[in-house]
Amino acid sequence: MIEPNSELVIDYERVRNNIQIIKGKLPSNCKIMGVIKSNAYGHDLQMATEALDGAIDGYGVVRLGEALKIRETSSKPILTMQGVYSSDAYDALKQNNIWSVIHSISQLPLARQYQDDLQFWIKVNTGMNRLGVGLDELDQFESLLNDSSVLMTHLACADTPEDELNNTQFKNFDYAWNQIEIDIQRSVLNSAGVFNFPDKAYDWVRPGIAMYGGIDFSGLKTAMTFRSQIISIQSLPKNERLGYGGRVKTEQPSKIAIVYCGYADGFPQTAIDGTSVLVNSHRSHILGRVSMDLISIDVTEIPDCKIGDWCELWSPELSILENTKMNRLLSYELMTKMSQRVKRHYLNI
Ligand SMILES: *Cc1c(COP(=O)(O)O)cnc(C)c1O
Repeated sequence: MIEPNSELVIDYERVRNNIQIIKGKLPSNCKIMGVIKSNAYGHDLQMATEALDGAIDGYGVVRLGEALKIRETSSKPILTMQGVYSSDAYDALKQNNIWSVIHSISQLPLARQYQDDLQFWIKVNTGMNRLGVGLDELDQFESLLNDSSVLMTHLACADTPEDELNNTQFKNFDYAWNQIEIDIQRSVLNSAGVFNFPDKAYDWVRPGIAMYGGIDFSGLKTAMTFRSQIISIQSLPKNERLGYGGRVKTEQPSKIAIVYCGYADGFPQTAIDGTSVLVNSHRSHILGRVSMDLISIDVTEIPDCKIGDWCELWSPELSILENTKMNRLLSYELMTKMSQRVKRHYLNI
């Protein structure tokens, strides 16, 4: 008898291993602001805070609520990376010693009211043209700065080092930093930046996805295991169509396993035939369209495959990148879209 469920097993030792690999790329005085926005990219904000507090120097979040949650258990620096927008929120920053990013002139009036009590990171727009103060506006922010302030920017093409926009952004960032009279700290790099441009690490780096093993650099491993069990096995003759739309036809007599997991669990609906799945440590692949609660995989070549066997959709042994590359998806999106109904297990907190 089985009581099947889709499961997400999060092993924080894997996350800490990834952080060690990140550290190996950095000068020893560079600090790590571990980015744990979006529920730690699906790795549970609260557990991640407990598990990673000794491994990183600070926390990068987006929402004030996330920052306050972390503050309940950690005394490390916390940065709201997209700023806050009301005096209530600024009061909360002050009461809880939370840092905030200023990225726009429109934030100046409120920020000035709190400048004696708060620590700001000034985000400068060096070419991504999303958030950030203009290079010609920077002088208006000088009154917010002291020698613990940080000048930051964000790279648009950190994952494509050959793109010329990177050099433009580095040049603009240098120009901005040289304009400022005080000797403030600097922060430029996200995960891909740490691996592609380690000489731009400066004082703080802001890795997110690399901690969770969602980018392809040597040694990093997917920290989460997304898995479920086989609940049925079909033995089909040649030329049988399979699943919704009957999109595939068996090319030979085939054994098809039906796995208790679908797009409502967080597996991508658009996964194409051939997307890898691990069954009993053997490589199998998706055959037929992914449905809400089920996927079908070809287990013809897998010995002793039976109902109740576990299938890994991604894990330290089957990188999430195999799925995202095959299906032109983002590991960020898959990790942050894991469904609530998936049963969680947390290891090595
Ligand atoms: C999300 C975010 C990061 C982390 O990016 P990764 O690609 O996950 O490393 C860093 N900096 C800022 C400003 C962000 O918003």
